[in-house]
Amino acid sequence: MFISHNGTMQEVTLSPSPYFPRDRTRPMDGLNNMVLTIRQFYFFDPVNPDASGNARDTDKNLIPVNAWTPGRWDQVCNELLNVAKRYWDNQFCLRTPASYQAYNYSFDRNEYRPNIQCRFDAVRVNTRQANSINVQLVDVPAGSRFRAHSRLWTSQDTVLKTNFTGNQQITVVHEVGHNLGSDHVNGPGNDPANYGGVGTYNSRNIMGGGMVFEGWNAYSWQHAMQQITRVPFAQWEGVLGTSVTPTWVRRLSFVDSILYQYGEMAPYPMPF
Ligand SMILES: [Zn+2]
Repeated sequence: MFISHNGTMQEVTLSPSPYFPRDRTRPMDGLNNMVLTIRQFYFFDPVNPDASGNARDTDKNLIPVNAWTPGRWDQVCNELLNVAKRYWDNQFCLRTPASYQAYNYSFDRNEYRPNIQCRFDAVRVNTRQANSINVQLVDVPAGSRFRAHSRLWTSQDTVLKTNFTGNQQITVVHEVGHNLGSDHVNGPGNDPANYGGVGTYNSRNIMGGGMVFEGWNAYSWQHAMQQITRVPFAQWEGVLGTSVTPTWVRRLSFVDSILYQYGEMAPYPMPF
């Protein structure tokens, strides 16, 4: 299924676990969580310099840019998506609310509730598509002051750079956060206060001016679980890391265990 965030479409896939179909001979380790993958499709549109060697940035300033060459074009496009994946993939888990039982499974006469492992994938497409995120891309020299936004990136956006908040940030990771539906730490807008200001705790977040990830940055995955289950997104608590193991629910009696396993023969109730 596709869901929309800030006007960007993303493909959402929820799968029971890497053991599919569920393999009950295996111990119930963290691998038996559900896996929720958000996949974005990026189309890059090259921006070349005008007759004076410039292009306009987010603030409408004319800034010197380089002409693209084919080899460099491919290298930069791929590196941007690789860096974004390095930070957003496998960054979070969601805790399945105790009230939500639909994904529970049994093993060795115990009932477990799996949590949700959050995966991220970004795929480059060579033509504009209905579901692609279309990004203009400029090639700038190191140290350029060209200012990016979520649909206008530069070849230096994979580099850790100090910004006005006093933090260091890799721009593309922040911009992909916008494409995942997150606003700045202090709300939408480009005023310094929206980034958390200078030297504050909030400003260190990836949706401020820094590189710090926190559980609430899993917003896009929480939102996806709301779409899938109709359980409000705030009940899918985001936590950092991939090691949140399934939650033990109860010990089953012998008879209950048999009945439970009959019930489990049915596939997961998947709405898509
Ligand atoms: Zn931003």
